[in-house]
Amino acid sequence: MKGSLPDIDVTVIGAGPYGLAAAAHLRDAGIDAHVFGRPMEFWANKMPTGMLLRSPRPASTISDPHDQFTLEAYEAANNVTPVKRVPLETFVDYGRWFVKQIGCDLNQQNIRTVTKDNSKFSVTLEDGTKFTAGRVVVAAGVGNFRRISAPFSGLSEKAFSHCYDGRSLAGLGKRVVVIGAGQSALEYAALLCEAGAEVEVIARIPELRWIGMHPKLHNLGPISKMLYSKHDIGPIGISRLVAYPHVLYHTPLGLRDRIRTRAVRSAGAPWLISRLGKAKITTGRKIISATEVGDDVVLKLDDGTERRVDHVLLGTGYTVNIAKYEFLNPDLRQSIQQFDGYPKVGPGLQSSVLGLHFLGAPAARSFGPLLNFVTGTEFAAKELTSHLSRNRN
Ligand SMILES: Cc1cc2nc3c(=O)[nH]c(=O)nc-3n(C[C@H](O)[C@H](O)[C@H](O)COP(=O)(O)OP(=O)(O)OC[C@H]3O[C@@H](n4cnc5c(N)ncnc54)[C@H](O)[C@@H]3O)c2cc1C
Repeated sequence: MKGSLPDIDVTVIGAGPYGLAAAAHLRDAGIDAHVFGRPMEFWANKMPTGMLLRSPRPASTISDPHDQFTLEAYEAANNVTPVKRVPLETFVDYGRWFVKQIGCDLNQQNIRTVTKDNSKFSVTLEDGTKFTAGRVVVAAGVGNFRRISAPFSGLSEKAFSHCYDGRSLAGLGKRVVVIGAGQSALEYAALLCEAGAEVEVIARIPELRWIGMHPKLHNLGPISKMLYSKHDIGPIGISRLVAYPHVLYHTPLGLRDRIRTRAVRSAGAPWLISRLGKAKITTGRKIISATEVGDDVVLKLDDGTERRVDHVLLGTGYTVNIAKYEFLNPDLRQSIQQFDGYPKVGPGLQSSVLGLHFLGAPAARSFGPLLNFVTGTEFAAKELTSHLSRNRN
């Protein structure tokens, strides 16, 4: 159905945790915000069935202005028994429940294009409907930023996939190599082992790393609070710094980058260790070539050995590059000041293009790694809302 919609003050692109939190806070402040996209689509369709959230419960709530719609509130309202590690299905259902609670104007169509004409943005939906918006808030996540390194880019879809493609495990075949050492790679490897596949994890780092290996330090009451923030991102000390995005914003970029990369470096949750029992683990190695021979994928490693498997699953993470947000018109993209693909954002998470804001991972290079996680929705939504409230027309 093509047509046009009335002008909208704030268009939010993406109905994941960041877009929904932004909508909740903006609407509470009396700002006309409309969200576009399918609710929790990335979590519902791109994460593996059986996954558990890595973030602890207190860091797995989507922010709303009065802390009414927490994970606990959802569980109580829906007779869901709280468990220590939140299952994927619970989190997806929680996000969809959150949408209903905040009474947000959600249009389930994706945004096809955004252009800027003078002071307004022109927006087109996937069905061709057009409207104008005073501001655009991009909360479109990292799905577009999958990192696919050279040896794999020439393979067919049957031979390889990325963890963020959300492919069904059943279709991957019996012999699977998983590349990477982060949570997605290791969790997929564990799930594949449990499904009966022969799994090998191949990683460049010399040894797999596990987070939270100092449980005693997390159980020292007030002392633990001094060492770790409630967000629980990164090791002692860094965990506290991450909780102050404004401090990180004023830190020199080089130091900020070091803090960010240390806080989010590849590591798995410790409960995966026992579940990986049957997987072969090869560390300190990289793949130098990957070719398809008949139905097999043949991998050559840098130690001269070869592997012949049915499928290669890349758990190689993502690299933020807003050029891959194809819904942003090329002229608009080029006018955004960047740090190597990350938009430079400042107060209100606003980019160098007036009225264009970025939430979530794209804002992490400016405000730190809190923005990579659900727990950062509180900071992002409050920062956006207070900026827009101060700068109403
Ligand atoms: C395997 C895995 C495990 C993770 N585990 C955790 C965890 O345990 N805890 C945690 O805090 N974080 C975790 N993360 C990180 C997680 O992705 C982010 O914390 C969270 O999803 C960020 O929310 P978001 O709203 O920015 O992005 P998303 O959740 O990706 O939401 C963005 C939404 O925008 C939509 N969108 C994109 N383009 C358009 C468009 N043109 N129009 C409309 N909509 C659009 C997408 O479909 C998507 O639904 C994990 C990530 C992965 C990949």
